[in-house]
Amino acid sequence: MNDVIIVGGGLAGLFNALLLNRAGLQVVVIEKKAYPFHRVCGEYISNEVLPFLEHSGINVYGLGASAIKRLQVTAASGAKFSQRLDLGGFGISRYAFDSYLYQKCKAEGVTFILDTRVDDIRFTNNSFEVITANQVLVAPLVIGAFGKRSNLDSKLKRAFFTRHSPYVGIKIHARLNFPDDLIQLNSFRNGYCGVSKIEGDRYCICSLAHRNDLRREGGLDALQENTINKNPYQKEIFAHAEWLMDKPEVINEISFEKKQPVESHILMSGDTAGMIAPLCGNGMTMAIHSAVILADIILQHYYPGKAFTAGARNELEQSYSQAWNRQFARRLWAGRQLQHLFGNNRLMHTAIQIMNKIPSVANWLVKQTHGKPFL
Ligand SMILES: Cc1cc2nc3c(=O)[nH]c(=O)nc-3n(C[C@H](O)[C@H](O)[C@H](O)COP(=O)(O)OP(=O)(O)OC[C@H]3O[C@@H](n4cnc5c(N)ncnc54)[C@H](O)[C@@H]3O)c2cc1C
Repeated sequence: MNDVIIVGGGLAGLFNALLLNRAGLQVVVIEKKAYPFHRVCGEYISNEVLPFLEHSGINVYGLGASAIKRLQVTAASGAKFSQRLDLGGFGISRYAFDSYLYQKCKAEGVTFILDTRVDDIRFTNNSFEVITANQVLVAPLVIGAFGKRSNLDSKLKRAFFTRHSPYVGIKIHARLNFPDDLIQLNSFRNGYCGVSKIEGDRYCICSLAHRNDLRREGGLDALQENTINKNPYQKEIFAHAEWLMDKPEVINEISFEKKQPVESHILMSGDTAGMIAPLCGNGMTMAIHSAVILADIILQHYYPGKAFTAGARNELEQSYSQAWNRQFARRLWAGRQLQHLFGNNRLMHTAIQIMNKIPSVANWLVKQTHGKPFL
């Protein structure tokens, strides 16, 4: 008998699995792909998460992560703002990190069902049925960790799913002549591109662009040439990049709309509960932190082998919703406001001039979208 079925094996799913399994629960993760695989992500993780990772026995520098200590923000006009990051972060590819976490969870006893898409999740008689093409799994608890947009959002009729989003994400790895400890955010019309080092001699180059620009240009090469390269810093990076992937990873319909942390009794974690604008560089930390909060609350309300009443479920759901909103709702709001700034060439130029005159503005902005280190 499973205690918890986790749908989706990204950072939220993997950390929920690690923590609940360590607490003695029977955990199954169902992931539609098989590790290792690339994801669209800037691959910069805020140091907020470091104390927790160290406490959990995960040494990211042992996996080759690069320490990132400085931020540069540039505009298409050529304006540039540079600053040391108060907290900083590290760079590691999702290809390496997710795969390492999968191996770790598996070695500690988590069951995985890979290459398998969940088609539906049904809640009846205070219990869940999780339906795939080949089987129906049953458990008293289901964690939804299926990311920013999934077939399940449509199946569950989640409100945000019907509102289309114009954002497209594009990620590629390259060798560059670029500082090891810098994250550069290069703004262009309707989007921006983030560049920072990951493991080995690799760099991650990840853009968020507008669907209409991609359509108008008719392809990624033309988008790069005619839109992204309008930022001189990004043009210079692309001109000297040695590509380390055959082609970029691309996803569309990236939405920052409000979602609910609990829907249809499913406990949502990571992007499934709410996604922060990627330029904040904090989505992965939030995915991990939301797993820490959720696992802790599950363990306060659910005891394996004992009856899990509808009343106890109700308390668990309320407690998680409150904790999630307390920790993340404000950051998501701030991220949405910042997203309006990036991509507007004139506004970006002015914002950089203001930050150069009053550098504490930049610190303040970073603080609005980040939390404190957690254990
Ligand atoms: C362009 C861009 C740049 C970003 N840059 C950064 C950055 O630099 N720093 C940062 O911290 N964050 C960044 N983010 C955000 C970060 O990638 C996410 O917040 C983070 O990946 C969320 O983790 P997750 O586990 O919630 O979801 P995901 O990592 O997306 O995992 C969800 C998993 O669910 C699986 N799945 C989906 N549907 C099903 C189904 N029906 N059945 C089974 N499995 C399913 C998927 O295959 C996937 O593996 C960026 C995001 C974008 C789009």
